[in-house]
Amino acid sequence: MTAAHKHGAEAWVQRVRETTRFQATSGTRAPYKPLLLLWLVGRLANGHGTAATFLEAEDEVGRLLSSHRVAVTPPSAANPFVYLASDAELWSVCTAEGDDIRAMPQRVRENSKHLREHAIGRLAPRFAAALADHELRDRLVGELLRSEFPETLHESILAEVGLAQHVRLASAPRDPQFQRVVPMAYEFRCSFCDFSAIMLGEHVGLDAAHVRMHSKAGPSTIDNGILLCALHHRLFDRGALSLDEDRRILVSQQLSITDGRSNRSLLDLAGRRMRLPQSAYVPPAIEHIEWHHENLFKKPARALA
Ligand SMILES: [Zn+2]
Repeated sequence: MTAAHKHGAEAWVQRVRETTRFQATSGTRAPYKPLLLLWLVGRLANGHGTAATFLEAEDEVGRLLSSHRVAVTPPSAANPFVYLASDAELWSVCTAEGDDIRAMPQRVRENSKHLREHAIGRLAPRFAAALADHELRDRLVGELLRSEFPETLHESILAEVGLAQHVRLASAPRDPQFQRVVPMAYEFRCSFCDFSAIMLGEHVGLDAAHVRMHSKAGPSTIDNGILLCALHHRLFDRGALSLDEDRRILVSQQLSITDGRSNRSLLDLAGRRMRLPQSAYVPPAIEHIEWHHENLFKKPARALA
């Protein structure tokens, strides 16, 4: 990669970062524009070109927004489809006649029926050309994923947007101190279910997890850490499980368990206090737990105890 090329790549990453505002200082998650962008990059990689009508986007993007929603009600697909065009160097939305839909009154530009009939979105030509560089594309995809989604979700999101076969993600940097201290503090047991196992002298199936996402100002410190088995880590990151202010386990009402044999153990978790670390270490801070509950947990919640 030449210096000029590298500079160009950095400029695109910066531009996408600003437009999707994925470094919001408040640390609140904003996954909707990133999901639309990932979907568009997926279409491009699969040979569908740089344009998409709202009609083509509405169902698929709507499903993505709903599945990764932050609030109880996700926004309509119209929202990111129109407002990603706040940066015309990335995306524009026009009618077939070339009229800029973003410049129209709010009641028109956010009207799904109007958009279905008229809206065509296009990746800006320079941006689309930059995405033809797969190294740059993969870097942008990695940034979008890391900024808004816990790492355990990255592979499944790539599959959802048709990028699993195309994108190779660089592995995320890890904090070795965090990875060493959290398992010790929790005595190598899942703090939800007590799972603990050793194979060939090594503890297996346990992850030192962040309560508040690292990319959302979550520190790699013991008061933002929790040791979870691989299953409970995934469910925690997916928002199926969370904690309340007494550090009792919450199970999302959105989670329906489809095999009765696994039912019992998850029901047993609900309302149970998480296992705390050894007394020399502090448990997860309430402010980080609140962040998780606000930003990742799929509400409405219930404690089943
Ligand atoms: Zn567990």
